[in-house]
Amino acid sequence: MFQPLKIHQGFHTLGPAYYSAVTPTPLSNPHWISTNTALAHQVGLDPKVFDKPEWLSLMSGQAVPNTITPIATVYSGHQFGFYNPQLGDGRALLLGELEDHNGKRWEMQLKGAGPTPFSRHADGRAVLRSSIREYLCGENLFGLGIPTTRALGLVGSPDPVLRESTESAAVVMRMSHSFVRFGHLEYFYHTKNNAALSALIDYVVERYYPEVAKDPNPILGFFSSLVKRTATTLAHWQAQGWCHGVMNTDNFSIIGDTIDYGPFGFLDNFDPAFVCNHSDTQGRYAFNQQPGIAHWNLAQVGQTLTDFVPVPELQAALDQFEGQFESAYHQIMCQKLGLPPADEAVNHALIRGWLELMQRNQWDYHWTFRRLAETHLDTPPTGLQALIIDTDNNVEAFDQWWRDYSQHCAGLQGNRQDTMLAANPWIVLRNWVAQEAIDAAEAGDFSLVQQLLVALQSPFEPHAHLQKYHDRPPASQAALVLSCSS
Ligand code: AMP
Ligand code: MG
Repeated sequence: MFQPLKIHQGFHTLGPAYYSAVTPTPLSNPHWISTNTALAHQVGLDPKVFDKPEWLSLMSGQAVPNTITPIATVYSGHQFGFYNPQLGDGRALLLGELEDHNGKRWEMQLKGAGPTPFSRHADGRAVLRSSIREYLCGENLFGLGIPTTRALGLVGSPDPVLRESTESAAVVMRMSHSFVRFGHLEYFYHTKNNAALSALIDYVVERYYPEVAKDPNPILGFFSSLVKRTATTLAHWQAQGWCHGVMNTDNFSIIGDTIDYGPFGFLDNFDPAFVCNHSDTQGRYAFNQQPGIAHWNLAQVGQTLTDFVPVPELQAALDQFEGQFESAYHQIMCQKLGLPPADEAVNHALIRGWLELMQRNQWDYHWTFRRLAETHLDTPPTGLQALIIDTDNNVEAFDQWWRDYSQHCAGLQGNRQDTMLAANPWIVLRNWVAQEAIDAAEAGDFSLVQQLLVALQSPFEPHAHLQKYHDRPPASQAALVLSCSS
């Protein structure tokens, strides 16, 4: 069955300086937990392949067809601001690439398929809990229009994996146009392997940045595009209230996509200083620090390019981050509030005013936006107040904001609501929601994983059977903080 499946090689062609070939360590008694039909179609696969035993064997590392050489790649990176000279794929194996119907390549990676030379005494495994989180959240960000890796399927096994407690093992097959990270460039720069660095940069520029091929200095063009792509991704994170949790440079993608889902969290109440990672005691990766950290991470990439591009030009490219971030963020926030394109100063003031109200009143970020989207402009302010204001606090501030807002948007009614309903999700993967799917899966019921997968792929549509997960979280489940353990 792998015969008609054409596997292409991309990263493999760079040669062994960049990776080690690794035979996966098989999981015992593997079983499917979920397959992603929508993504299968997108990457040019007939979802019927999942019915073939060969796919389960591949996913669980039991049998790899001879057309595939799994590799673990080497990288380094800055973790919590400090340089770690040797990281690398400690539990991920790159299999090769699929080509979709548009000729676009998708790298396939198994995560959790056993130790590699880069495992650093860890077990090379991933637990079911964190695998479900990664599997679902990638699809959710995709559904929200945020650049991200995705996952084609999820396989479980009764094999025990020791974390804080003993959990069961799983493997996710991740898909991305590229799994190259900032840390790949950092590794070759900091080991002073200029030839390997140069070849890797050329590979990245040619494959992922065709738009700069004719630039006077394509490497500068690449960096400038990377800065803009990353700033745009960050604008989406901030506008959709999503916190990554571990923004180390090895967890940042060279194509600007979201990668490596660990202790991430969507905001519940709007708390700009929210830290979703229990291990992040300094709050380095707090929600409101994310754009600044992304900028810092990009500076580390810029550093690796200093032999190829004059520093002032790199600096000028890096300096575009803020402008790009601000304009992309502003554009998404205007959609979320249904603001007309005219009069930017008023739009800015209304966005600021709304966020202040949300913060001061601790309103739920997603639920409140959605209520606003559903509210007609001719509703008296009391109508909306009754919906979103639990206490008598700040009623006047809200009334004033509503008057300004409804006046500014007058005449846009139909268009305003269509725009807003397509920009404010009905459902997001809050941590407590993920946990319900995990608890059910650990008890052998995978139906909620599958239902959430489908709903999160179209998060702006109402999914009546999941109403419970649309509502604000139960108080005991709000603003959950997770550990890095995965
Ligand atoms: P992360 O914090 O998940 O981005 O991982 C940081 C580094 O640790 C990367 O090199 C990972 O491949 C490696 N790593 C994380 N968990 C494991 C594990 N269970 N086994 C082997 N390597 C791991
Ligand atoms: Mg990582």
